[in-house]
Amino acid sequence: MTDLPAMDLAARSQALVTSLPAGGVDALLISKPPNVRWLSGFTGSNGALLVTADGSIVLFTDGRYAEQAQLETSAVGIEVDFVISRTNDADIASWLVERGVVVCGIESHHLTLDRANALAAAAPSVVFESVGPLVDRLRQRKDAGEIARLRQAAAIADQALVQHEAAVLTGGMTERAFARSLENAMFDLGADALSFNTIVASGPNSTRPHATPSERVLTPGDLVVIDFGASIDGYGSDMTRTLAVGGNPTEDQVSLYAAVAESQAAGVSAVRAGVEQVEIDTACRDVLARHGLADAFIHGTGHGIGLEIHEQPILSARSVGILAADLVVTVEPGAYVAERGGVRVEDSVVVMSDGCDPITHFPKGLVPWLSLPMI
Ligand code: ZN
Ligand code: ZN
Repeated sequence: MTDLPAMDLAARSQALVTSLPAGGVDALLISKPPNVRWLSGFTGSNGALLVTADGSIVLFTDGRYAEQAQLETSAVGIEVDFVISRTNDADIASWLVERGVVVCGIESHHLTLDRANALAAAAPSVVFESVGPLVDRLRQRKDAGEIARLRQAAAIADQALVQHEAAVLTGGMTERAFARSLENAMFDLGADALSFNTIVASGPNSTRPHATPSERVLTPGDLVVIDFGASIDGYGSDMTRTLAVGGNPTEDQVSLYAAVAESQAAGVSAVRAGVEQVEIDTACRDVLARHGLADAFIHGTGHGIGLEIHEQPILSARSVGILAADLVVTVEPGAYVAERGGVRVEDSVVVMSDGCDPITHFPKGLVPWLSLPMI
């Protein structure tokens, strides 16, 4: 395992404070767990941060996490004040009142209405105002430490799939057994966790984009859609390959695959800093439409990856905004046709000023390691 570069967490709270509207907010309550982690390094299930206008951070958690919170925040080199109790929201309210906070920003896309009402009742002098997904937006752009973790997670997933080439060729495993075996390989290769529940969808199941692995046996003649990822320090990889079980795809499977692979390549070619996000979706969709598969592409084209497996930006026909450098996004068109089968091809790529740099490297093709028909 290579040494991973440190992540500069202190810079993140400073960036957050800088992004606040001038004179608008005295303190920010960060309640969404991946945002808490991104700013403080704390990974516990109960934690909230108050970030003040000067960038200092107070972490509210309970006694179960007192030691972990100290260890995790000091490991990433940021200074945090701790409030450890069993009644965090009451403590947050008192903290705000005692320090004379007038306006406190909240993450209204995460904080429940019940909690917001309770905070407002306990701190009547404070105005709670939504700042929206401010931290989520800042998290889009990855620093070198984050990109290194995503690369390592993707490399583990690549290697785990290499270890399963023979199992694809012979068939015979159930989808569930294949998924568990792939997951075990990722753990053996150093993954901390899975980035999401592995999808292994064979034969008729391949037409369901988010199928759950079943007891169906991988059978020669099947297409199998394998969508999976490993996680390192919370940063999860995401890759899909569609393979031909038995290594002898039909002409129709090859032509369906070729259309999706062409679409995916067009999407990846469109990724560059400065382009409209919607252009990635259009590039993929146009190719599939040309192959008569417009209606078979029934989901979005991609999404950001990071501490969450689906994070901003979401790349779809409804995307608004420009792609920036140092985002890490997926490009994953698919075509799902009853009777023919389902195909999805997905890579994760780092957005660069002159294009993009894929971090998922398992070769593409229906049986790429045998140099059978592929794009
Ligand atoms: Zn995926
Ligand atoms: Zn994905």
